[in-house]
Amino acid sequence: MSQSSRATGAAPETTPASGHVAHFIRNIVEADLASGRFEGRRWPGRPGPAALKANAPADPAPIRTRFPPEPNGYLHIGHAKSICLNFGLARDYGGVCHMRFDDTNPEKEEQEYVDAILDAVRWLGFDWGEHLYYASDYFEWMYEFAELLIKNGHAYVDSLSAEEMRAYRGTLTEPGKDSPYRNRSVEENLDLFRRMRAGEFKEGEHVLRAKIDMASPNINMRDPTIYRIRHASHHRTGDKWCIYPMYTFAHPIEDALENITHSLCTLEFEDQRPFYEWLLERIAEAGGLTRPLPVQTEFARLNLTYVVLSKRKLIQLVQEGHVDGWDDPRMPTIVGFRRRGYTPESIRLFCERIGISKADSWIDMTVLEDCLREDLNERAPRRIAVLDPLKLVIENYPEGRSEECYAPNHPQKPEWGKRAVPFSRELWIEREDFMENPPKGYFRLAPGAMVRLRYGYVVKCTGFEKDADGNVTLVRCEYLPDSKSGTPGADQYKVKGNIHWVSAAHAYECQVRLYDRLFRVPHPGAGDRDFLDDLNPDSKRVITAYLEPALKDAQPEERFQFERHGYFVADRVDSKPGAPVFNRAVTLRDSWAKKGGQP
Ligand code: ATP
Ligand code: MG
Repeated sequence: MSQSSRATGAAPETTPASGHVAHFIRNIVEADLASGRFEGRRWPGRPGPAALKANAPADPAPIRTRFPPEPNGYLHIGHAKSICLNFGLARDYGGVCHMRFDDTNPEKEEQEYVDAILDAVRWLGFDWGEHLYYASDYFEWMYEFAELLIKNGHAYVDSLSAEEMRAYRGTLTEPGKDSPYRNRSVEENLDLFRRMRAGEFKEGEHVLRAKIDMASPNINMRDPTIYRIRHASHHRTGDKWCIYPMYTFAHPIEDALENITHSLCTLEFEDQRPFYEWLLERIAEAGGLTRPLPVQTEFARLNLTYVVLSKRKLIQLVQEGHVDGWDDPRMPTIVGFRRRGYTPESIRLFCERIGISKADSWIDMTVLEDCLREDLNERAPRRIAVLDPLKLVIENYPEGRSEECYAPNHPQKPEWGKRAVPFSRELWIEREDFMENPPKGYFRLAPGAMVRLRYGYVVKCTGFEKDADGNVTLVRCEYLPDSKSGTPGADQYKVKGNIHWVSAAHAYECQVRLYDRLFRVPHPGAGDRDFLDDLNPDSKRVITAYLEPALKDAQPEERFQFERHGYFVADRVDSKPGAPVFNRAVTLRDSWAKKGGQP
């Protein structure tokens, strides 16, 4: 059903069972639930092989999905797509989603990343409950399954050098050839594998390989390596192991031990699916696992314009100091977006909106930005801020006097009430709201022109001052005392211009960071370019702004719309109590397109 709606471009249909926007994976899940494909699994309350599950009660979860990051970097917006998919399906169909660290690689993995990943998933609004797992906890079972494969003639120890192995593997067009060690006896293989584990050999001396078919058209089936020697400490298992399973061997086993039903991964693993199935079938045949086995399904990864989502490149940006850390508000990491002012709701909306498909494509950054605008338009209170200040003096307003004007907290939500903003003789206005020689159609301040100071009085410009360089330094005006907004006489003055302002004596002078896109082109590093050459030199501008006094009390992560300017957040790292600093999350409209795609 969703297939047809996608093909015709009609409005997306919702699936009958969940009421959510349909996509092919939802359809698969619903079909599997209808056919009872995954019924009959046992679940002892924790992961484990068949033997441990034999007498366990039936698995109470109709589906189990998992989010399996490798703890070797911070999560980015592409991971959010996978998180929303996996946790979302479990939520929608009464299942469970496991949070699993795929930490089978001893190098490059760190506790810092583990903590940051858990934090990001939680912030996005998902809860794994008791289902937090580490693949490294399964090393012993993985080892036993490897021995089981050896005993059944499905794996052998190979002693070719890495170089020789490459030569024997063949190419996309030519078959590979059998290693001279391929026909070692089960006894010899077992002995060598056990000695590998015991640490008798150097790295690279031997590997354990699956015995499948060196002539397979799928290179991944040409006796893939499943264990290698690494004399390295692991961040959780320490020095217990000196052989480590390959990802392609470990991952299916992790899924099976955890009773995963739908193992969802990105398209680059499509060619690995035959091995995934081969491996689990061989272990099940030997009694190590019970059926039904998990099923792998691939979907297209998220590609987003104006950012890079490769971990290697993100690490490079941080390590070479092109950004101020993983949580720099320009980074496409979850912590970066969070600090930028994105809400979890806006990111979840984005993930829902882009959908799930099998075809690779690019999503435009404006789609994400629009999700944030939509979310914050609803929930961000309005505030007044002058970002590029110019002094306005009201010459007929008494010195030392001040009074209150009342500004609505949300134009469409009168129930949010109004707040008082102080008005006085000297105000800050935006520099662009005054012009000495205005073009036709300019309705803001100009010599002799009248304008309404939003939520305050109508003023008439009576003069201005300039410095030696010709820059306007001050504007003079007179106010009409019977024109105050909200008073009975206010409507008699019909003026077209309406500008915002902040009382100079009351303003909160504050650092505001105007962030823009990190890269100036949609596809950084496309072709042969170095992606670093595509960095946007103007992606961060720090200014001193004048904000209405109420903003002094903003709490870290509180978000506002600064009228006419965009959405801003009190920075969660640099704000001090009573002295928040603000980040621009996004402008009110897509200003990028207007600039012709160039900053
Ligand atoms: P690595 O190259 O280090 O494996 P990775 O981005 O695949 O990088 P993982 O930690 O393995 O990082 O990813 C965890 C999960 O997130 C995987 O299931 C992966 O498929 C998914 N994922 C990663 N990047 C994207 C993306 N751009 N879009 C959708 N899902 C993604
Ligand atoms: Mg990966």
